[in-house]
Amino acid sequence: MKINENYLKMPGSYLFATIGRKVKAYQAANPDAGIIRLGIGDVTLPLAPAIVEEMSRASLEMGTPEGFHGYPDYEGYEFLRSAIRDHDYVGRGLEVGLDEIFVNDGAKCDSADLSDIFSRDCKVAVCDPVYPVYVSSNALAGRAGDYIEEKERWSGLIYLPCTEGNGFVPEFPEETPDLIYLCFPNNPTGGTITKEQLQGWVDYANRKDAVIIFDAAYEAYISDPSLPRSIYECEGARTCAIEMRSFSKNAGFTGVRLGFTIVPKDLVRDGVSLNKLWLSHQENKFNGVSYTIQRAGAAVYTPEGQRQTAEQVAYYMNNARTIRQGLTDAGYKVFGGENAPYVWLQVPAGMTSWEFFDQLLERANVVGTPGSGFGPMGEGYFRLTGFGTYENTLAALERIRKM
Ligand code: PLP
Repeated sequence: MKINENYLKMPGSYLFATIGRKVKAYQAANPDAGIIRLGIGDVTLPLAPAIVEEMSRASLEMGTPEGFHGYPDYEGYEFLRSAIRDHDYVGRGLEVGLDEIFVNDGAKCDSADLSDIFSRDCKVAVCDPVYPVYVSSNALAGRAGDYIEEKERWSGLIYLPCTEGNGFVPEFPEETPDLIYLCFPNNPTGGTITKEQLQGWVDYANRKDAVIIFDAAYEAYISDPSLPRSIYECEGARTCAIEMRSFSKNAGFTGVRLGFTIVPKDLVRDGVSLNKLWLSHQENKFNGVSYTIQRAGAAVYTPEGQRQTAEQVAYYMNNARTIRQGLTDAGYKVFGGENAPYVWLQVPAGMTSWEFFDQLLERANVVGTPGSGFGPMGEGYFRLTGFGTYENTLAALERIRKM
């Protein structure tokens, strides 16, 4: 019997585990330090009342003979898919059919599993820095080659640098990829992509017969109306793009777990509809999301749910803008934080991301995330998030200013 040796190739320590270890050690040595965490990608506000009420109602309904629901549909209940279609797509003039929506338990699983429907030898392009799941899932599937420690890169992946120079939007690579992961608004840089730039990638993918996996987990944070909230706003995206969305950051579902993926029927490769392949994936590897949670998700689309969740997004965005402004005033060069909950700051010259992490922890008792943890091009940068409380955000900024 042989194991999947790709698991052994994974680089040693997971970013957030290392951060956790360092913070724990510091806390043990300095029990009175009031540590403020602005490194987390998790939300902090409680669920909105409209969601809690519907979740409670649906739970009670499950306890009645008429309201009991067993195994859910693989694709998600029609009431939720209709709400998604009408509100997020058709209501915005975009063509997406009910049978192109696949409800899931959050975007992480699909961002890891979507590559299952593509050949083992397809060439994958990822942004650098990047949400680590796109990289690790392809590495575990044997599609990323070997991890080269000195370069902090996988030999078989195409890396698309996202730098200050290109406004954190990648350029087309020299080598042609088959699968391209794009995420906008971006985690970790907080960068956005214009409609023209995204259209460029859609045209590129159609020209090269490539497929884009577009992660729109943070679309709710876009306030600039000129920025695309869905890749399907671009002409031709239905023949080259899969889109992922999540309820985690727009409605606080990080602990509830709900998301969805759009696989258009027009997306055909090797003469096969990818929609059919993904349905087959879900039928064979997934048993659906609970009725109660899908009802809670549908409550997000009610007028009350919309109002309450928009208030939460506005709260986090106010934090992000406050961080951006506070750091700018303190003399830092800062990116993001305008249409994304993430602020990406340049660490002082001569320091690495991890050295800045240590300094911030020890001198300001503030925890952030070193940019190098998201890829080599993240070195020299640092991520702070707007997901804390407003009071902690202000207190952290004051400490950073003093530092
Ligand atoms: N995609 C990106 C870019 C993320 O940053 C995250 C979570 O932080 C996810 C997907 C996962 O979201 P979910 O909670 O829906 O699994």
